[in-house]
Amino acid sequence: MSGEPLEVVPLGGVGEFGRNVLWLRCGASSVLIDVGVSFPDESFPGIDRIAPDLSVLRGERIDGVFLTHGHEDHVGALSFLREWCPAPVYGFPFTLALARRRLEEVRAPLDRMIEARGREPIVAGAFTVTFFRVSHSVPGSAAVLVEAGGRRLIHSGDFKLDDDPPDGETTDRDGIAAAVGAGVDLALVDSTNAERPGRSQSERVAGEGLRAAFQGARGRIILTTFSSHVARVSQAAEAALAGGRRVALLGRSMRAVAEIAERFGRLRLPAGSRPAANDLRAIPPGQLLCLTSGSQGEPFSALYRLALGEHADLELAEGDVVLLSARTIPGHERSVNRMSDHLVRRGARVVRETEPPIHVSGHAHRDEIAEWIRMVRPRAVMPVHGDRRMLAAAGEIALAEGVERGRVHVLDNGDRLTLGPDAEHVAPKSVACGVVYLDGRTETVGPEIVRERRHLAEEGVVVILVRGDAVDVVSRGVAADEEALAGEVGRATRAVLARASDEERGDSEWLRAEIAIAAKRACRRALDLRPVIVPVVV
Ligand SMILES: [Zn+2]
Ligand SMILES: [Zn+2]
Repeated sequence: MSGEPLEVVPLGGVGEFGRNVLWLRCGASSVLIDVGVSFPDESFPGIDRIAPDLSVLRGERIDGVFLTHGHEDHVGALSFLREWCPAPVYGFPFTLALARRRLEEVRAPLDRMIEARGREPIVAGAFTVTFFRVSHSVPGSAAVLVEAGGRRLIHSGDFKLDDDPPDGETTDRDGIAAAVGAGVDLALVDSTNAERPGRSQSERVAGEGLRAAFQGARGRIILTTFSSHVARVSQAAEAALAGGRRVALLGRSMRAVAEIAERFGRLRLPAGSRPAANDLRAIPPGQLLCLTSGSQGEPFSALYRLALGEHADLELAEGDVVLLSARTIPGHERSVNRMSDHLVRRGARVVRETEPPIHVSGHAHRDEIAEWIRMVRPRAVMPVHGDRRMLAAAGEIALAEGVERGRVHVLDNGDRLTLGPDAEHVAPKSVACGVVYLDGRTETVGPEIVRERRHLAEEGVVVILVRGDAVDVVSRGVAADEEALAGEVGRATRAVLARASDEERGDSEWLRAEIAIAAKRACRRALDLRPVIVPVVV
């Protein structure tokens, strides 16, 4: 064993959910594993994504970016990296297809995206990286084995051990076991479900749950899941077609990902089974399945429009059923509950917990994590992907599997772990890593508004206080005539209030999000300003 030490620095994704970025450095050469975003909870009105601040990497020689899979918390910040970093990006084909779609939306460069093949090593600077297929809730998920400076680590990506998934995407245990041989120096392991006992259920079980739920339904079935969960979407479509239903895809992301899935042969919707949007009203309720994103209660999703009775192509009615076939991301419980209340007001039945379940997790439970550790035989373990207590729970599993206590490393973002010849050394807080807030709705206002706001102070803040019909605007640190600013923002806010229905006005969270967007647009258009907008509805 010789060579330069191998350094491991999480820039996001440990001690928090999402925003996964791992920086590996060996001598002058660096690679990144994943560059994801996270999704803020409701305390950030008008902010729809949070990206990692990657400025610490400027000036480093980055020889490759390796994407384990296509979820937003792993690829969502790629466009920001690509603004200045020309490094090639590697991933399985489905992962790159999802990443490309995001890049296209913001018109980021699409070159240097290189398809990886399972078990085939890729050389990038001082690094050799090999992809292995793993089971997860999106096609083309991977673990990566990394070698540099005479040391080896394996990163599980997000994974589970589903031995019989409907899409055949099993974890490549043979390939991984053969490649690790006598073991690795370090295992980075997905800790999302480290607190859950036993094993995760097979995706097939969710298929059974869906079929059972469909059988009992007389009216329309509205099913929401993550659009990237192709196996779920595909099982739902099959159950619908078998029951004589046609399949409508609502919302832009659901349609876009379904198109990719069809291209990859992962989803089959026969000609004639997909009604046009303006035909939806004419289809008898018992003959329609609508697949939609919006499972987290996102205020601008097709599902939320349906919930508010404001969808352009369809109204829900008594007898319709809404199946929530996704977990609720922590921090989004209130949005999902509010949306569910609106749906019930429309006469729909909202179903989440069933037996068999209509949702199963894509992440390994305790016994699977233990099995993974036995398979990759690590001398040291670093739990990733989760809040501190999940990381700690994964650390406990590693200890139980015989990893030495001093070699289980629970890190914070910005800590640096160095793999030495006999041990690992952790230098806490050695790298600065902040966040960048993004506002979105690229679907309606164009990519130019997706911009960073590194400091509140840079652009100032505008607080909009709404009490009934009264609107007060207070600004701090905004470089503008205060009266003009208050005029524009007040006008935009009153316009939102004027066009909102009673039900919309009763939903203060929705109102806050809508006002934030309108005010933001007004500031940009009229004053060329991009302050942080804080709407308060009382
Ligand atoms: Zn993830
Ligand atoms: Zn994932």
